[in-house]
Amino acid sequence: MAKKFYILTFGCQMNEYDSEVLESILASDGYIMTDKPEDADLAVINTCSVRQKAESRAMARIGQIAALKKDMPALKVIVAGCMAKRAGQAIIDDLPGVDYVVGPDYIPEIPDIIASTDSERVYIDEKAEATGLARGINPGRVTGFLAITKGCENYCSYCIVPYVRGSMRSRPSKSIIAELKILQDMGAKDITLLGQNVNSYRDDSLDFPSLLQRIAPDSPSRLRFLTSHPKDMSDELIACFAELPSLCQSLHLPLQAGSDKILEVMNRGYTSGHYLGLINKLRQAAPNISLTTDLIVGFPGETDDDFEQTLKLVKEIKYDSAFMFRYSVRPGTKAAELDDDVPEAEKIDRLNRLIAVQQEISSEQNTRWIGRSLEVLIEKRSRREPFWPQGKTRGGQSVLIKNNDQLNAGDLIMVEIESSKAKTLFGLFEKFA
Ligand code: SF4
Repeated sequence: MAKKFYILTFGCQMNEYDSEVLESILASDGYIMTDKPEDADLAVINTCSVRQKAESRAMARIGQIAALKKDMPALKVIVAGCMAKRAGQAIIDDLPGVDYVVGPDYIPEIPDIIASTDSERVYIDEKAEATGLARGINPGRVTGFLAITKGCENYCSYCIVPYVRGSMRSRPSKSIIAELKILQDMGAKDITLLGQNVNSYRDDSLDFPSLLQRIAPDSPSRLRFLTSHPKDMSDELIACFAELPSLCQSLHLPLQAGSDKILEVMNRGYTSGHYLGLINKLRQAAPNISLTTDLIVGFPGETDDDFEQTLKLVKEIKYDSAFMFRYSVRPGTKAAELDDDVPEAEKIDRLNRLIAVQQEISSEQNTRWIGRSLEVLIEKRSRREPFWPQGKTRGGQSVLIKNNDQLNAGDLIMVEIESSKAKTLFGLFEKFA
């Protein structure tokens, strides 16, 4: 009987990508996927270390899964990803039911690790090369991720990523082009190039804008990238939004804070003025571009005035949406050495105020699509009643198609937008695109 695997993924798109890679490797080794750890022969928990909350949630779940070994002694339990890299052997010491601890660079090797007779149980050293899919992906996915860089060496003072994902490594363009073809052959119609900072991609003389120019003509009709660092956002990259028809006019550009004093302590490498200049250039190159961001409130030393500067910039830029967090200390980072001096109640108050402002802006931004005809890629049916098909615009907005049960995942259609909420647009099917 075929062996079964279960994968639980926490955290960012890089983790989702790593889990997809593992899924494809295990599937081609004859494993079958299950969504129940109690049915599995192999359980992998792919963890995130970016916030304490994410680690605590993962540890609780790992404990439950490891406890299954009492009745299922053959079950192999693997803790993978960023928390694995950060905590290493300590995870096995705390949870003896865990068989292996595997950092992000070793995830594609999990089948070899469990087959090995070696006594090594912790695999967390950094590897020199950045790799991607070794074999195909599971067919039928309409969206796909494609990692082009690994690691990061920007050392933003609050961030654990450089310590857990290692130094920045770019993947050879040949291997990126080969994987792009695999993803397309498997049916992916919307592909996101991934990396902690894709803007600093380099393969000999090929930088990121040149990579985009090289691959865009052979990509599907929707190409995106994530994440961009404002300090590396060049004019050439901004021009790509105007010049490359397959590049979706959608950009996630983390601001983090509106105060130059806080940006400097965060070691972000830009000022609010520079950032605003980028937004203006982007909107000149692509007037309808959808912009999203990340924001942190309550960073050490953040005064009321610093926070007001964040609010002011958010109101001026008018993002389509934002991921907003209150600062929490990550041991091992530079910021952990600073006095975490903003009281928790104040952090919560600032976060709530920021969320309220951004929600209003998101709703207002979404109204600009009402009455327009937008291209939508159907991804699935809505989980809530009525079971309307759900898709994404080129700008990344989520759309529900009213009164239509004929559409399938992968259909590319035109939709007339009738109404909107902060997170969703609603419209009617017009025609196939
Ligand atoms: S750019 Fe900064 S925030 Fe982003 S992964 Fe690198 S260190 Fe972390």
